[in-house]
Amino acid sequence: MPITPFHFGPGALFKVLAPRHFSWTCFALANILIDLEPVTLFLLIGDPAHPWLHTLPGALAVAAVAAIIGRKPCEALLAFWNLQLSPAQARWLAVVPEISRSAAWAGAMVGTLSHLALDTMMHADVESLWPLVHGNPWRGMISLEVLHLGCVVAGVAAMLFWGARQLVSARGQH
Ligand SMILES: [Zn+2]
Repeated sequence: MPITPFHFGPGALFKVLAPRHFSWTCFALANILIDLEPVTLFLLIGDPAHPWLHTLPGALAVAAVAAIIGRKPCEALLAFWNLQLSPAQARWLAVVPEISRSAAWAGAMVGTLSHLALDTMMHADVESLWPLVHGNPWRGMISLEVLHLGCVVAGVAAMLFWGARQLVSARGQH
């Protein structure tokens, strides 16, 4: 789909459940990179199509770019984020700026593959298992409303879980 925040809900849940093993920044980058395809095609030909990157080989290639080339820029972004925080904010919002190679790969792979799964159910022209399966038999399997609701619920659950954990660790510091 054209870049929407719905994709980020499931990623946030992965992040709170396995914070050290999953880079949410690489997850987000992978989601943005894969949707450069429909955005660029829309600008060029007026059709937000999904012919190449929204396939299994395309999604794996995008994940590799996000994990290998994107890891260092993502680390720089996290370091920059930390610099913007006041000491009071940093107690809550500071992040670990280092991203291990495996966390970068986990974030990027979950990023493009979950993106592909969601888009497959939403867009008729997404052939996610090309070249193994032609066409899109999964379109409409789950209604758009339920899909969006699932993504929002995942995001809200992630925030609640994160908030509860921050509270516990803040208490532990007293
Ligand atoms: Zn997409």
